[in-house]
Amino acid sequence: MSEYELSKKEADSLTAWFDKNKRDLPWRGTGDPYDVWLSEIMLQQTRVEAVKEKFIQFRRELPDIISLSEVSDDRLMKLWEGMGYYSRARNLKKCAGELRDLYGGVLPSSFDELIRLSGIGPYTAGAIVSIAYGNPVPAVDGNVLRVLARLFEDATDIRSGRAKKNCGEIIRSFYRKNPGLGADYISSFTQALMELGALVCVPNGQPHCEACPWNNVCRAHLNNTAGRIPYRSALKGRRIEERTLLIIRDEDRFLLRKRPESGLLAGLYEFAGYDGFLSRAQIIEETEKLGISALHIRRLPDSRHIFTHLEWHMHAFEIMVADIDSVPDGLLLTKKELAEFAVPSAFSKYISYYSLKD
Ligand code: SF4
Repeated sequence: MSEYELSKKEADSLTAWFDKNKRDLPWRGTGDPYDVWLSEIMLQQTRVEAVKEKFIQFRRELPDIISLSEVSDDRLMKLWEGMGYYSRARNLKKCAGELRDLYGGVLPSSFDELIRLSGIGPYTAGAIVSIAYGNPVPAVDGNVLRVLARLFEDATDIRSGRAKKNCGEIIRSFYRKNPGLGADYISSFTQALMELGALVCVPNGQPHCEACPWNNVCRAHLNNTAGRIPYRSALKGRRIEERTLLIIRDEDRFLLRKRPESGLLAGLYEFAGYDGFLSRAQIIEETEKLGISALHIRRLPDSRHIFTHLEWHMHAFEIMVADIDSVPDGLLLTKKELAEFAVPSAFSKYISYYSLKD
């Protein structure tokens, strides 16, 4: 796609459209790089509507990079609750520590410096540098890939590294040919490309070309191919893992156990979880290993949870005991405490089952 060129006239019509149509979002227009960084990380796997409230709360409690670097892990998980992919939150805190130690708690304005920090990839670095600092660097996300693929009617597989590289080159080439664009212009241009993809040149179904500032130049629109572009190769199937959950409780309290410090849902608490579908005899054996003797074992409804490349199929059992004692890496919580605790959304069906939350 790198043979394609974006003209200044096209960029002007896009930024003018953005000025009139941009959404009012809590992280927009504050001029604070921390807001750009935080919102970009939150938006990676979560819808804008769900992020808005979380962002405000997060920002109110952790107003700067230093406070983020010092927050307790439990509080951080609570603030992140509901957005999933908790490793993003852990990386935010880790990166905040690096920023505190290396840059006095300030995000650098250089792409090359940002990219070396934990959890910051080329897209996030490009977004921070161009949106917050107005430096001419591309930030290519799924929205930008789609919009440019349609504009130039390019059928490169957008899952490929080549598509991303080509898009980046189109934007870099535009900046090279138009030196002296102001920081505000560059900031608006980056956001406008993303916003056009989010509001008008939408991913599923037909784009709203009638409302698009590029409908007089867009090749996919003029040739009526926008329904087929971007081309996307099929994803390989998700791996399915069978799991057994033991919801061990007495009259007042539930037992949670900490997951290992690396891998999926690292360091988070869950109901005692085991690989595979355990038989009753195996369940009794596992509970005895915890020093727990079951009064009743009751099968609960099954559930599934979908991660990006993995699907958990879960069998769950309630293990009622007379009086739970603490176990290694365990946490005993009352119903009320459990309702307020940041349990990963993979287990939300069981939290709802006990009417702990709606
Ligand atoms: Fe997308 Fe239609 Fe605009 Fe082309 S004209 S960029 S297909 S919304």
